[in-house]
Amino acid sequence: KEYVPEKVDYVFKVVVIGDSAVGKTQILSRFAKNEFCLESKSTIGVEFQTRTVAIENKVIKAQIWDTAGQERYRAVTTAYYRGALGAMLVYDISRRQSFDSLARWVEELRANSDNSIVIMLIGNKADLAEQRAVPTEDAVEFAKDQGLFFAETSALSGDNVDKAFLQLLEEIYAVIS
Ligand code: GDP
Repeated sequence: KEYVPEKVDYVFKVVVIGDSAVGKTQILSRFAKNEFCLESKSTIGVEFQTRTVAIENKVIKAQIWDTAGQERYRAVTTAYYRGALGAMLVYDISRRQSFDSLARWVEELRANSDNSIVIMLIGNKADLAEQRAVPTEDAVEFAKDQGLFFAETSALSGDNVDKAFLQLLEEIYAVIS
C-alpha cells in the first residue's frame, strides 16, 4: 500500500482533535512515521505530517494536522479546520474527562467544517486496559448518535492505528469520488 508517488491524485487534509494528552501527536507519528516517542514533549509549532497511500489505484496524500498544543488554551483556530475533509476525534480510554469533552469537540468541529466532513472517533491508549474508565459500549453509542466512525487504538503498541486512518481515508474517498 505504500508508494513513492510520481503523481498525487488527491490531497486529503485531516485534523486531529481532542483534549490535551490523549495521544494525538503519538497517533499521528505512529501513522506517518511508524514511531512512538517515549520522551515526547508537546509539539509546539509542528503543523502537519503526511503519508501517501493508494486507494483504488489513486495516489492519496494524507496531510494530517496536529493542534500543536493549542487545545490547552481552548484556542484551536478556525484556520486549523479550514479545508479539512476528515477528522480524528481522540479521547483517552483511561480518562473519563477526555470522553466527556467529546460533545464540545464535535460542536466545534461541526461549526467550523464542511457538512460532509468524515469524523472518526478514536479511543486511544487501549493498551491501558486495567485503567479503562470508558466502556467501549459508551463510545459506540456516542459514535452512533453523532454519526461518527469509531475505533480503539494504541499509539504505544501501534494497534489499530493504521487501520483507523486507512478507514477514514477510504471514507473520505467515498465521499469525494
Ligand atoms: P496530545 O497532547 O494529545 O498530543 O498527547 P501526546 O501524543 O503528547 O501523548 C500524551 C501522553 O500520553 C504521552 O506521555 C504519551 O507517551 C502517552 N500516550 C500516547 N498514546 C499512548 C498510548 O496509546 N498508550 C499509552 N499507554 N500512552 C500513550
